[in-house]
Amino acid sequence: MRNVYLDYSATTPVKDEVLQEMLPYFTEKYGNPSSLYDIGLESKEAINRAREQVAALINAKPSEIYFTGCGTEADNWAVFGTAEKLRAKGNHIITTRVEHHAMLHSCAALEKDGFAVTYLDIDKDGLIDLKQLEEAITDKTILISIMLVNNEIGTIEPIKEAAAIARKHQILFHTDAVQALGNVPIDVKELGVDMLSVSAHKIYGPKGVGALYIRKGVQINNYMHGGAQENRRRAGTENVPGIVGFGKAAEIALRDLDKHIEHSKKLRDHLRERILAEIPDTFVNGTMEHRHPGNLNVTFEYIEGEAILLLLNQLGICVSTGSACSSASLEPSHVLSALGVPVEMIHGTVRFTVGDMTTMEDIDYVADSLKMVVQRLREISSVNSAKGW
Ligand SMILES: *Cc1c(COP(=O)(O)O)cnc(C)c1O
Repeated sequence: MRNVYLDYSATTPVKDEVLQEMLPYFTEKYGNPSSLYDIGLESKEAINRAREQVAALINAKPSEIYFTGCGTEADNWAVFGTAEKLRAKGNHIITTRVEHHAMLHSCAALEKDGFAVTYLDIDKDGLIDLKQLEEAITDKTILISIMLVNNEIGTIEPIKEAAAIARKHQILFHTDAVQALGNVPIDVKELGVDMLSVSAHKIYGPKGVGALYIRKGVQINNYMHGGAQENRRRAGTENVPGIVGFGKAAEIALRDLDKHIEHSKKLRDHLRERILAEIPDTFVNGTMEHRHPGNLNVTFEYIEGEAILLLLNQLGICVSTGSACSSASLEPSHVLSALGVPVEMIHGTVRFTVGDMTTMEDIDYVADSLKMVVQRLREISSVNSAKGW
């Protein structure tokens, strides 16, 4: 049996080049970066090298990169740091209905604390409406946060245009770029964003390390309080091996970006073509035009996505329904709901994400397996008689 991992949006394996770079920082190079003797300074230098590598991937200055404990922390920092800093100015935040829970649940917490939040809709392609964004702005709006790439349907939102609207109204703009990093070119200057969240484990780096880009001059409150790390803005002894790994993963992502995109697209499109041609009553959610190169989100009508997932798992194939974060709950995906997919069809939806280790043979094995699994499930499904299977 093959093992095929098609859930790169949930997490990625750490590349060997990345692991090798990290290993010495667990053992002989264990110094605390705040210590003034040689092994401390060596750790400090390693962090600053990583800062340059992550900055280069998004065209930021190294001094604008603040390492965090994960992408979730970066999102929380952007939201709560802005809300606390600008509370006297206003209590209104604009985001979208399709954000990651790191954003949605942070906003929900602020709503309990006297803030008002507007959740923008998406159209049938999965894209926000810039006119609705501009109309939602009030004189109390202090933050607009819109994700760059959606983690379930892979759609790429018009962040440059949205950030321009925010700037025109002098409102801070944040984007969750965790799914975008390493999958689409990112240039913070070109996008015109004030803050941007990223995470290492989605780009073949380790889990438990992320970063928030904060444009020079942007003032928000600190989220973690304690020591003077990260230029006094994010306390806590740095995860040195993790940060070193993030830096190396960012360097590789920048070096191989074109190759990665081309490889992902080729495999993703082959999977899409085979599914649509060979399995009846299936459709793809979200536009194929502005989309993460490795993402495919497919609804298989009349069956449960969970059943597909479990049978594929028995065949050594890893996929997900919805996102990794919501798959433990039976709530239908908020992203597919916002897209207008009827609830019974949401339950028949599977997310496939391909990545650098995926091969064409893997894709053909998955397509063959899917055909078999879907047919088997439809034979036992209660609607089969109606559909004549
Ligand atoms: C994975 C993910 C996060 C959370 O990042 P962690 O490092 O896992 O906390 C946030 N936003 C999006 C869009 C993600 O895909």
